[in-house]
Amino acid sequence: RALKQGEFCFYLQPKCNNMTKAIVGMEALVRWNHPTRGVVPPGEFIPLLEETGLVTQLDLYLWESVCKMLHRWKEEKRNLVPISVNVSIADITSLDVAKVFGNLVERYQLEPKLLLVEITESMMARNMKLVENTIKGLHRKGFSVLMDDFGSGYSSLNMLKDTSVDGIKMDLKFIDMDRSNAGKGRQIVESVVEMAHRLHLPIIAEGVENQEQVHLLQAMDCLYTQGYYFYRPMPVADAEELLAQPANENYW
Ligand code: C2E
Ligand code: CA
Ligand code: CA
Repeated sequence: RALKQGEFCFYLQPKCNNMTKAIVGMEALVRWNHPTRGVVPPGEFIPLLEETGLVTQLDLYLWESVCKMLHRWKEEKRNLVPISVNVSIADITSLDVAKVFGNLVERYQLEPKLLLVEITESMMARNMKLVENTIKGLHRKGFSVLMDDFGSGYSSLNMLKDTSVDGIKMDLKFIDMDRSNAGKGRQIVESVVEMAHRLHLPIIAEGVENQEQVHLLQAMDCLYTQGYYFYRPMPVADAEELLAQPANENYW
């Protein structure tokens, strides 16, 4: 019903270069404008939609909305940055995701590098072969794939070994760990960053909320950050204003 009534929209949260603060991309995060409850965050409805498979309808709507926006940005000659969208495992099992994305960029005349796909690591484990085939299909069409929530599940390293993702988003719990578990936490964050470097994979730290964390990441040469410290998720209009300012930089 909410889909039919047009109650879903998305916010955008910038990803920044830690050193220069330049915006290198944004993530589209769904929001539900509930008629009586106001803006409902995805944590309250996505898990339920995932269980029931309904998430796919929502995601199809969301991906298309993002492509429409990018198309409009192009028409309006705005500064463009790649936008990432979230893909659920339910989407991968019920759709040919590569084909869907391929059709979308064709319909909205976009370069595939403007659209990034984020897949949650813990979900990858559930159906690895299918996930890897999907990643390969996306690669063939020119899309890149990020492993979301890296380190949140029990099989992160296996996932990294057995899939061909193009980048890693380090789960926000890692950054938090540094605070709660001084020495050890820092070492683990550092090792994860170092590992990404060795694998030549760009790494984005999620959940960065203060300057201390930014400094820590800078010291580790972790180049990219997505977190409240730089920007919170914001309505599209605010993101457009932000992008209108100069000094953004191209993604990797
Ligand atoms: P995610 O993909 O890991 O997205 C990042 C989440 O971390 C967002 O929560 C964002 O608001 C939050 N976040 C960003 N910076 C900080 C920070 O500095 N501190 C803290 N504490 N949190 C931060 P959000 O928007 O509530 O989304 C939650 C999850 O819902 C997402 O996690 C993603 O798994 C899922 N989701 C969001 N949009 C979609 C969608 O369109 N489709 C699907 N399938 N899932 C979605
Ligand atoms: Ca994500
Ligand atoms: Ca994440």
